[in-house]
Amino acid sequence: MSARRGVTILGSTGSIGCNTVELIEARPDLYRVEALVANSRVDILADQARRLKARLAVVADEAAYPALRDALAGTGIEAAAGPGAVIAAAELPADWVMAAIVGAAGLAPTLAAARRGAVIGLANKECLVCAGQLMMAEVQKHGATLLPVDSEHSAIFQVFEFDQKDKIEKIILTASGGPFRTRTRDEMADMTPEQAVAHPNWSMGAKISVDSASMFNKGLELIEAHHLFDMPEERIDIVVHPQSVIHSLVAYVDGSVLAQLGSPDMRTPIAYALGWPNRIEAPAPKLDLAAIATLTFEAPDPVRFPALRLARQALRAGGSAAAVMNAANEVAVAAFLDRRIGFLDIAQVVERTIEGVEHCNLGSIDDVLAQDHKARAFASATVGRVS
Ligand code: NAD
Ligand code: MG
Repeated sequence: MSARRGVTILGSTGSIGCNTVELIEARPDLYRVEALVANSRVDILADQARRLKARLAVVADEAAYPALRDALAGTGIEAAAGPGAVIAAAELPADWVMAAIVGAAGLAPTLAAARRGAVIGLANKECLVCAGQLMMAEVQKHGATLLPVDSEHSAIFQVFEFDQKDKIEKIILTASGGPFRTRTRDEMADMTPEQAVAHPNWSMGAKISVDSASMFNKGLELIEAHHLFDMPEERIDIVVHPQSVIHSLVAYVDGSVLAQLGSPDMRTPIAYALGWPNRIEAPAPKLDLAAIATLTFEAPDPVRFPALRLARQALRAGGSAAAVMNAANEVAVAAFLDRRIGFLDIAQVVERTIEGVEHCNLGSIDDVLAQDHKARAFASATVGRVS
């Protein structure tokens, strides 16, 4: 009998996924791997599956199946492919699931894990943005546990006194400001994908890196925080903190403000979620405050970063607004990375899509997916017009 925790990683080949694999590989005494899931990177996935002795490896992209099957031949590791296999992997009885697929594509598998009451390390913020209310209701109904992996939400989770929630005045999300924090709007108009993904503090996947540059990432995180901590929009503040040392804060009625600090290294919040309710070691650089010397703060600029206004509006509007915003942003970011639109067009596409797609209530996940679909079609057409 092994007391090791069974782990499944959804999105194991990405930035969060690879960091999670590194932490799990370092502790074979604590963890064994059930399933690893990726989109199409067979080389990385098969190598991870072999190293971690996973039971199952899945690619979402069916065209990648023969390569995966061949790469795992003779290992005893099962190979599978397609969206149904991704969901089936999330349904396997692993104790702990890392939800690290990027975008709304993570919604169905994360929900499948929640519906069987798993403990979920939640990196995939987009699933809460597009289906927050439904997702939180399913988590509650099935006794699942969501442990935030986003560094800001991990920070808040660590200093949020859940049994004194009525004594919490507000939560304060810190934002690095991204690579264009000090750029003028004119300069931002000419920024390339290479410049947008060159984040000053964090090393991350392409989509979230562009989101950080536009500050849509902070907009998505505002909505994520609203759902995770049941906080109204007006009690969530955002402050720009370029050093990314204070990962977020909680302000109490007595004037105390509690913060969590650390080096900007995702292995720390991943390790927190992985070890919870205990703590495990992570190889992140230790914080050297004397070497850092100065921590600074500034208000976000609403003119250069309209994403924050759009996210607040979407959250206040409720219903399908945030799902539409998220889908439009995914389409616009892909178009920007593909050099079909300019950097400032991202917010344009999102705003026009929010205005153009009819608002509705979301009664079910099917409603979310339908609205996501409509918003993607509208945003794609808008991309065609601005490019
Ligand atoms: P990434 O692009 O590096 O990796 C994405 C992963 O998802 C890959 O393994 C890819 O194969 C997989 N994937 C993509 N589409 C899929 C599909 N349809 N089906 C199955 N798998 C699919 O992204 P990332 O930077 O690791 O971010 C992952 C998530 O974590 C995002 O939601 C992001 O916002 C969030 N997040 C990331 C960071 C970070 O530091 N990278 C920090 C906080 C939150
Ligand atoms: Mg974050």
